[in-house]
Amino acid sequence: MNIADSQTVTAILRRAGYITTDNAGEADVILLNTCAIREHAEERVLGRLSDLARLKSAHPERKLGLLGCMAQHNRAALMKKAPWLDLVAGPDSYRRLPELLANASWDPAVDVRLDRTETYADLSPEYENGVRAYVTVMRGCDKFCAFCVVPYVRGRERSVPAGDILREVHQLAARGVKEIVLLGQTVNAYHYEQIGFGELLRMVAAANGVERIRFTSPHPSDMTSDVIEAMVHEPKVQPYVHLPVQSGSDRILTAMGRGYTTDEYLRLVERLRLAIPDLALSTDIIVGFHSEDEQDFAATLGLMRTVGYDSAFMFKYSVREHTRAFKLGDTVTDVEKSRRLAEVIALQEAISLQLNHALVGREVAVLVERPARRGSGMLAGKTPQFKTALLPEAPAIRPGDTVRARVVSATAHSLVCTLA
Ligand code: SAM
Ligand code: SF4
Repeated sequence: MNIADSQTVTAILRRAGYITTDNAGEADVILLNTCAIREHAEERVLGRLSDLARLKSAHPERKLGLLGCMAQHNRAALMKKAPWLDLVAGPDSYRRLPELLANASWDPAVDVRLDRTETYADLSPEYENGVRAYVTVMRGCDKFCAFCVVPYVRGRERSVPAGDILREVHQLAARGVKEIVLLGQTVNAYHYEQIGFGELLRMVAAANGVERIRFTSPHPSDMTSDVIEAMVHEPKVQPYVHLPVQSGSDRILTAMGRGYTTDEYLRLVERLRLAIPDLALSTDIIVGFHSEDEQDFAATLGLMRTVGYDSAFMFKYSVREHTRAFKLGDTVTDVEKSRRLAEVIALQEAISLQLNHALVGREVAVLVERPARRGSGMLAGKTPQFKTALLPEAPAIRPGDTVRARVVSATAHSLVCTLA
């Protein structure tokens, strides 16, 4: 999501006459786009900022700014910790960046107002050249899960007009992009006028040139029959869903305010698998949420085994200011969170390895993206299930080609293939 936002920022600044450079040492303006989802992300930004402060002290005329969720989340603390910042702008203030930069000569320019309507719909982000492009279709979130800072830093849910999305998709297809990933915090909550997410999938699938369509992240509560039907009937929509569960304990799910029980979640998984037999599933898991005990944690491990996710993003719970769970505090020690995290990671590695091993001998369609590690003589791409596939380089195969390949070996994270 931040990559997509940075591409929007680049487009805005380019219109104002700025050009990009890969070399921070020669930049007149350096903007860090930030994440506030966990404390760890914020700490990394502070570390990076103090590195850049050295550059700033050697060249005081250069401007250093902070963008995104962290700017929104704790600007006051930030200005104290990093007084050399010239600019702080939240996720809905990017249109004003040229103006803010112009005004940042003496006092730091700050704009962190949230806007209920801003979607940057009319702006074409500065997409990088590649096989895949991420297209933002909705911004913000209305779910207010107890642990999550997103609704506070990115504002309320709003959708990009379908016409603007289609214009973007057509332009990307004309540039040779083969795979479109529709992006939103709760992407399947998309609704613009009478158009829901299922309809949007059908509309994007009708675009010539686009070969594969994905979306992230859908919320389990918004996974309607219409969305599932669109996945079934549109062959371009790939058989892969990232379906964040967060916990396998009903007590914790209620405390988190996730809006579903484990039973409802498992029934949804069953419906998806019945409808799309070769479906791959991934998830997000938080360990050590307020009051999570051994029994709750065991339920999470149990649910992971029951579903058998192809992959997962796993996190230690991080208390975030402003959220509903903030005042509850932390009841699980960091040592204990680390132990639980290590355990879920080990379990997921074992499940991923087992599922990938089962594919050895099978034929897969790989959309080739780029050369794999330098000197390896291999190309890297993705299967429809979004698994990384490695295959031998061949003069006739280029990024953007879809090739048939046979899996010869597997790790927890990739499939090694030969050409079929
Ligand atoms: N909107 C998506 C959903 O609810 O399904 C998830 C988007 S969120 C930006 C990505 C993930 O970050 C969440 O699914 C959750 O696992 C994790 N996350 C959010 N807040 C967190 C917190 N306070 N501590 C640890 N992990 C957190
Ligand atoms: Fe955060 Fe996702 Fe919950 Fe929204 S639905 S509050 S983004 S975890």
